Amino acid sequence: MEIELINTGSELLLGRVLNTHQQWLCRRLADLGHTVARQIAVPDTARDIQQAVREALARAEMVIVTGGLGPTSDDITRDLIAQLLGKKLMREEAIIAHIKNYFAARNRPMPANNDVQAMVPEGAVVLPNPNGTAPGLAMAVNPNLFRADGKPAWLVMLPGPPRELRPMFDDSVVPILRREFPQETPFACRTLRTGGVGESAVQEKIQTSLAALVADGLGIGYCARVGQVDVRLTARGPAAGKMVGVAEAVVQRLLQANIYGYDDEEIEQVVVRQLAGKKLTLALAESCTGGAIADRVTNVPGASAVFLGGVVSYANSAKEQLLGVPVETLRQHGAVSEAVAREMAAGAREKFGADFALAVTGIAGPGGGTPEKPAGTVFLALAGASGTAVERKLNLYEREAFKQLTAQQALEMLRQRLAAS
Ligand code: ATP
Ligand code: MG
Repeated sequence: MEIELINTGSELLLGRVLNTHQQWLCRRLADLGHTVARQIAVPDTARDIQQAVREALARAEMVIVTGGLGPTSDDITRDLIAQLLGKKLMREEAIIAHIKNYFAARNRPMPANNDVQAMVPEGAVVLPNPNGTAPGLAMAVNPNLFRADGKPAWLVMLPGPPRELRPMFDDSVVPILRREFPQETPFACRTLRTGGVGESAVQEKIQTSLAALVADGLGIGYCARVGQVDVRLTARGPAAGKMVGVAEAVVQRLLQANIYGYDDEEIEQVVVRQLAGKKLTLALAESCTGGAIADRVTNVPGASAVFLGGVVSYANSAKEQLLGVPVETLRQHGAVSEAVAREMAAGAREKFGADFALAVTGIAGPGGGTPEKPAGTVFLALAGASGTAVERKLNLYEREAFKQLTAQQALEMLRQRLAAS
């Protein structure tokens, strides 16, 4: 079975918005064992959208169209597709009621033009949108309309905003896929997420032990990002689940402490869960990450149960005044030093009354380095009841990636401490 993806939106072709739907949907579909055969982005013009949909429906069994379900004049997907498929648009009162509620709950009047979002092509399945106003739509397409082989196809329309599209895909599209296109052979997929080891080192550690399984059909994929490597294990066939399970156990044994999570889990989610499970709290003292660690921790629902607060102590004066780092330590060792990282962590732990405190101080660069402490030098400190540990790293990246990597390393340090205790 083939799936094609059409992302609508002139902003995608102007480079104003990164097409994250392409990545997210392809990844989800791949993990479900489906192949996305083609993906295209088209501007919000009638000709381009209709042509793309017509072509895709001639080839694929499922076509997913994203964007353009909103109430503004450039949101034309619904109308164009109804027109193309020869379907009348019918007004659904239940959707009007949902939109009214949505605005009422936010104390805002419902603009009249939101009405168009309640128009549904005849025979379409409405995909609820708890996170917005425009519902998604799915419909079986007349097999004789575009296809030479007369096979049935499905067309799915999803709203543009990622926080609306993602849950709608998981809650409403996946069940349709399972029902309409059951896998001919079972498929299994598991991703193990690692930190602290490079891509080739990960491969070296596991490939020999997995060779026999690979010969039997196991697929291994490596995906490296700043500070982390994902290992994706897949198999197809009656024994797929078992094969992936065996492979997972092998990878676990070989990479053990470096595995921080599974599938879509982020390290901050793991850390918040670990802390919550142990009823422990965290404080932060961030210099060179500028709040990046706090940002990630507070992305996790439930962070308030474990995260007490943080200080972005960029200047020496802030390190002194807000964290109690002694002037003498700063003068003697410099702000980027093991001693200062240690004092920052201890200071944050004490000021916030937390069980653990993470501190980072480093030179993001490009300037500011010295021969002993080149740009990219970072000290990470973790203070806890049993004392303070410090690690030194050299993160040779431009500023944004530097912050991202340093935040990842700090969270990894905490994760390992919590896993060991
Ligand atoms: P709305 O009701 O918000 O108008 P919509 O279904 O009409 O929703 P669009 O107008 O196409 O969707 O897009 C809304 C917003 O969603 C865009 O401004 C953009 O920020 C985001 N968006 C749309 N398509 C993508 C995409 N492919 N990748 C990432 N973000 C996207
Ligand atoms: Mg729109």
